[in-house]
Formats: sequence, structure tokens, C-alpha cells
Amino acid sequence: MAASSLLSAAVRRLEGKVAIVTGGANGIGECTARTFTKHGAKVVIADIQDDLAESVCSDIGSESASFVHCDVTKERDVQNVVDTTVSKFGKLDIMFNNAGIIDVAKPDILDNDVSEFEQVLRVNVVGAFLGTKYAARVMKAVRRGSIINTASVCSITGGSASHAYTSSKHGVLGLMRNAAVELGQYGIRVNCVSPYVVATPLAKNFLKMDDIDGYFGIYENLKGANLEPEDVAASALFLASDESKYVSGHNMIIDGGFTITNSGFS
Ligand code: NAD
Repeated sequence: MAASSLLSAAVRRLEGKVAIVTGGANGIGECTARTFTKHGAKVVIADIQDDLAESVCSDIGSESASFVHCDVTKERDVQNVVDTTVSKFGKLDIMFNNAGIIDVAKPDILDNDVSEFEQVLRVNVVGAFLGTKYAARVMKAVRRGSIINTASVCSITGGSASHAYTSSKHGVLGLMRNAAVELGQYGIRVNCVSPYVVATPLAKNFLKMDDIDGYFGIYENLKGANLEPEDVAASALFLASDESKYVSGHNMIIDGGFTITNSGFS
């Protein structure tokens, strides 16, 4: 069965909920925004690619999806997207901190450029931190909410990506765990989704492969299926919905068994 048909909304699992999806203009975030709206949520896409995000929203339909420009490294932008969402819909149920970048080079640490390193940490870790902070402030008042961060298999492996990216995704996992401990008292759940390679612009850029399908099946144990954005969206959907009401502090790894046998690609 194709992953997309698994996401058909015979049962609308997010009916009445309001979500923010950072990095929702493309890739995993776009697919998750589409999935959340199919399941009845109102979604606000927060991204820096305005034209792309606007076109995704118009394709989904303006009654379900809207766009707010937001650079997740900027505190005022993140605060603004949360404030705008709450003033438009009256609440925020789901925060998907998904925006992320990777530095395309995989240089030896001896040559690694500090400004590139810092930028990856800013988008991937500081972005998730700010999203968690401002979402939790709203969710705390109503004593419920689901915060989901996109980490990666690199949250638990070494050698799978650049130093900055691996460090950042370990950071995202640590942030999630700390936040889950602190925010549980307010009924707020915090979790991660951690995919293996998904055929998105980010991965194609990093792997320098147009036809990324040829990449699948080399390192994973599970054969016969490619990891698609829909598979990550399905996990995010579960963590966003009330079906996971007792799941918090969890790193949901979606990797065809890669991490149980590999600590990296090499
Ligand atoms: P993508 O490049 O397709 O999408 C990333 C989105 O984030 C883009 O829309 C981009 O505009 C947005 N973005 C980048 N910087 C931003 C900023 N400062 N503020 C707001 N938005 C910003 O990539 P993707 O593969 O869909 O990645 C989504 C997440 O999944 C990332 O956190 C990435 O690290 C993670 N991830 C991806 C893979 C993979 O193989 N594709 C694997 C594991 C984890």
C-alpha cells in the first residue's frame, strides 16, 4: 500500500486542532502540513520561503492553511507566528518544530568552518528551542498540547552527516528530553520524529543525488520500501493526535532498522 493512501482521512484524527508547522513550505514539513489539514486541523506554515509557502497554502485551501513568514532563528518571528496563530484561531494544540538545514560539505573537523557550524545549530537547535518556548507558554495555560521536533537518525548516530548536523540533531533530542521533563507537569507532551534519508531537497542537496531512490536499501535492514515524506508525516500525525496522549519524551525513529546495526554510513 502506498504511504499516501495510509494517510487518507477516513477518520479525521486532528479535528478541531490548530497546528504550526515550521519549514512547512517544502519536504517533510509540507507533507505534514497537508496531512494535518486532511485530518481536520487548521495549519499555519512558518517558513522563510514565502512564495513556496503561499503556493502550498493556496493548494491546500485558505480555510485550512495559512502562511506567516518566520525565520526560526529569530525570537521575534517565532513569537509572532505563535501570537498570530492564537489571535486567529484562539489556541495552539500542536507545534511541529521541523525547519532544518544541513551544511552540504562533510569536511574534516580540522577544516570545518565555524560560521557554517553555528548557522546549522541556530536553525536546527535554536529554532526548536524558540518554537518550544513560545508554544509551551500558550499550551501551559490550557494544560495540554503536543510539541514535536524533527530530529534525525543523526540524533543517535555518529558519522552519518556533517559535524554540525550531527551535533545539532543530538541537541534537538536533548532539548526534547529536557522539555518533556519540565513541561509534563502542564500536560504538554514533547517528542521527536527521527527519520533516515527522505527524498527531499535537503537530502538531495546533501547527498548530491538527483535520483535518491537508488540510495535506499543500501544501509537499512528493511528492504522493499523507500522512506517517503508521508511516512514521517504519519508518525508526526500520531504524536500530534490524542492517540498518543500518554507518549512523551519519545524519539520515534523511522529508519527501516538502520540505527539498530549502524552507527554511521561509513
Ligand atoms: P527541506 O529542505 O525540504 O525543507 C526544509 C524547510 O525548512 C524549507 O521549507 C526551508 O525553507 C525551511 N527553513 C530553512 N531554514 C529556515 C529558517 N531559518 N526558518 C524557517 N524555515 C526554514 O528539508 P526536509 O528534508 O523536509 O527537512 C525537514 C526536517 O527534517 C529538517 O529538520 C531536517 O533536518 C530533518 N530531516 C531530514 C531528513 C532527510 O533525509 N530529508 C532526514 C532526517 C531529518
